[in-house]
Amino acid sequence: MMTRLVLATRNPGKIVEFRRILAEAGVPIDLVGLEAFPEIGEVAETGLTFAENALLKAHTVAKESGLPAIADDSGLCVDALNGMPGIFSARWSGGHGDDEANLRLLLAQLSDVPDDRRQAHFTCTAALALPTGEGRTVDGVMPGRIIREPRGTNGFGYDPIFVPDGESRTSGEMPAAEKDAISHRGISFRAMIPVIVEMVGPLS
Ligand code: IMP
Repeated sequence: MMTRLVLATRNPGKIVEFRRILAEAGVPIDLVGLEAFPEIGEVAETGLTFAENALLKAHTVAKESGLPAIADDSGLCVDALNGMPGIFSARWSGGHGDDEANLRLLLAQLSDVPDDRRQAHFTCTAALALPTGEGRTVDGVMPGRIIREPRGTNGFGYDPIFVPDGESRTSGEMPAAEKDAISHRGISFRAMIPVIVEMVGPLS
């Protein structure tokens, strides 16, 4: 039977993306999302860093499912805001997950910041935890800058106001596969493959 691994998310987009990355790398893993474990509740993100939050989720799900579990935590870090919104990216304007309100608040906060000082980066930390309590993390970063008006309808979150380094399009104007190739999440998910092989393997 194929090695089974849980991706600690209820976001189907993340499952599709990670499955695609595993398939491209030829890694034979049966990846299931949290929808396969309705008894596992929400894990509160109480950590102070991306790594703490990712490990918290991965350890909880590994323990409760009895399977190796991967979790990720990500966000946008803006230089002019000393790295914020950071781990608070999803709830920057108060409630959780209001992308439009979060993006508008960030633009307002940066309105006086000149064009040459609007550097930012997306970060994603992926964590793998085993039911035995072992855990590891890997990071992915996508550097870029914040523009003044949203452009593009692809992606989610802050994508319409973020232009990756070396690009003229926002990540909200890039097709999904092009964004995956350079994105913080793509980089950390790909970096996770050798860690899976090392910690979970041999895979069959
Ligand atoms: P989470 O890791 O799924 O909790 O995402 C944290 C938050 O960071 C999201 O709600 C978005 O606001 C932001 N974020 C993380 N990755 C991206 C991205 O690739 N594009 C745009 N926003 C992102």
